[in-house]
Amino acid sequence: MALTIGVDIGGTKVAAGVVDEDGRIVAHLLRPTPAENPERVAHTIGDVILELARDREIEAVGLGAAGFVDETRSIVRFAPNLAWREEPLQKKVSDLVGLPVVVENDANAMAWGEARFGAGRGESHLVCVTVGTGIGGGIVFDGSLYRGRWGMGAEFGHMQAVPQGRLCGCGNLGCWEQYASGSALVNEARKIAEAEPDRAVTLLKIAGGTPEQIEGHEVTEAARQGDPAALAAFSSMARWIGQGLADLVAVLDPGCFVLGGGVSRAADLWIDETREFFATHLSGRGHRPLADIRLAELGASAGLVGAADLARRR
Ligand SMILES: [Zn+2]
Repeated sequence: MALTIGVDIGGTKVAAGVVDEDGRIVAHLLRPTPAENPERVAHTIGDVILELARDREIEAVGLGAAGFVDETRSIVRFAPNLAWREEPLQKKVSDLVGLPVVVENDANAMAWGEARFGAGRGESHLVCVTVGTGIGGGIVFDGSLYRGRWGMGAEFGHMQAVPQGRLCGCGNLGCWEQYASGSALVNEARKIAEAEPDRAVTLLKIAGGTPEQIEGHEVTEAARQGDPAALAAFSSMARWIGQGLADLVAVLDPGCFVLGGGVSRAADLWIDETREFFATHLSGRGHRPLADIRLAELGASAGLVGAADLARRR
């Protein structure tokens, strides 16, 4: 059986696994990312690959990297959470391990993993949206990963949804992820707790007393206890997600959406409202099939499983 290795490189962790043709992880390793030093990142990746490849016949390696990857799938042009600037990651790692290497954006790798082996199995037109601190995305178009001309497509989080809206880390105003992410959820909850503390009694108690102390997991906990401010913050995020998905349908007309990322772990608190808002804000609603909105199935391993499969198809 042909084996490949997938490596998911995030700002804090390097997760690597040996993956078979059916997307099963047969061995797994996790290391901290030495994020501030590109040489040490490359060596950490090389070390985990060599360790996993010992006594195994490995065909190729796929790297899922949290950054902008160029169209040749070799160079990480820029990474917001790592010190990569025009980093020749493909060559560095391939020289270290002596195997063919492909580099892919981490959200693209995740989308591919879910499309092949997870919630999107069997769907030829799929859009994956990861809702975490920000919003990431991946597009599977007619059975293939769609990367754009320069490899930098599917950055849905930076669609400018609100003219002159909230300032985004990317430098623009009103980006979708400023309204529809885990950070947006926390900001909204803090804003309500500040303006109407009597609606946020439970939330403020859990958080330690002041709006600035509120964190994401506390909004979730308070919402589960029925706190009106926490529920309103989830409702706002749910609607913004639903509206963005409706906009993506106008452009891409997918068969289904797969939603992943940290915020999807509390999906029971918001997904129904997202589905409803989505359905009632579709252009041409009532005259088009409704794209299914599903939750990701592969969890934290989607990226490495997808990267390993992309390496097999290199
Ligand atoms: Zn932005």
